Amino acid sequence: MSERRPGVPSWVARSAQTPPPASRVTPSRSPMAPSGARTPAPPQQPAGLGMDSAAVRARMVQRLASAGIKSPAVLAAMGGVERHRFVDSALVNQAYEDTSLPIGLGQTISKPSVVARMIELLLGSEIGKSGLGRVLEIGTGCGYQAAVLARVAREVYSIERLRGLHEKARSNLRPWRLANVHLIFGDGMEGYASGAPYAGIISAAGGEATPQAWCEQLAVGGRLVAPMVVAGGKQALLVIDKSSHGFTQSILEAVNFVPLKSGIA
Ligand code: SAH
Repeated sequence: MSERRPGVPSWVARSAQTPPPASRVTPSRSPMAPSGARTPAPPQQPAGLGMDSAAVRARMVQRLASAGIKSPAVLAAMGGVERHRFVDSALVNQAYEDTSLPIGLGQTISKPSVVARMIELLLGSEIGKSGLGRVLEIGTGCGYQAAVLARVAREVYSIERLRGLHEKARSNLRPWRLANVHLIFGDGMEGYASGAPYAGIISAAGGEATPQAWCEQLAVGGRLVAPMVVAGGKQALLVIDKSSHGFTQSILEAVNFVPLKSGIA
C-alpha cells in the first residue's frame, strides 16, 4: 500500500505505482515479450526492502529535487521506476541511496542523481523541450535507465555490448512489457543506425572521444549527453547540440562512469 505523506506532491504518489499504468503496457507487440505470452503476474516485492518502496522512492525524488532536478517529467519518471528490482537481492536496501551499485561483469548501475541529471539535460535540447521522440542509450547495463527513459521518450533504443547484461536487462524489464523499449545487443560505438535520427543520445559509459556515428545519428535540434575523458584523464559530462549550422559542445561537471569499450563480448 502506498503511503501518502505531507510534502509529497500528488504526482509522485500517483506515478509511484506497481506495476506501471496499463496504458504503457502493450501485451503482444512488445519487443521484450515472448510472442503469445500471457500477461505476467506483477513482480513480488523482494524480501529485504522491509518498507514501502513507493515511500522510499518518494524520498529519493525529494532529494533529487532538493539537489536541483527541476523537470517534473524527470522527477515523475524517477519516482515511477522501481530501482530495487534492477539490483541484486543483497543490495536491495541500498537501491534508493544515491550511489552506483555493481550489476555484474564489472559494471555498475549509475547513481540516481546522475541518471536524473543526464535525462534532464537530454530534455533541454531544442527538440526535447516539447517531449522527446526517439532516444538511443549506449550501455543498457541492468536496464534501469532504459526504464526511466521509457517514461520521458516516445521510443527508446538501448544497446549493450556484454551479452550477459543485455540478457539481464531483458529479464529485468520483461514484467513491464514496455512496448517502446528496444534492447539491442551490439557495439554502441557504432550507434544504431536503424533507429536514427535520434532526438537524444545518452551514453552510460565514458570514452576518450565522441564516436562519429553518434553525431551522424543525432537529429537536427537533438542533443547528445555523454561522459567523456577530459584533461588530466578525468571524466566530465559532455553535451553536444546539433543544429542546421553544425555542432556546439559544452563540458559540464566531473563524473565517474565505467569505460566505453569497442566490440562485443
Ligand atoms: N544504464 C545502465 C548503466 C550501465 S553501466 C543501467 O541503468 O544499469 C554502462 C554499460 O555500458 C555497461 O554495461 C557496459 O558494458 C556498457 N558499454 C560499454 N561500452 C559499450 C559499447 N561500446 N556499446 C554498448 N555498451 C557499452
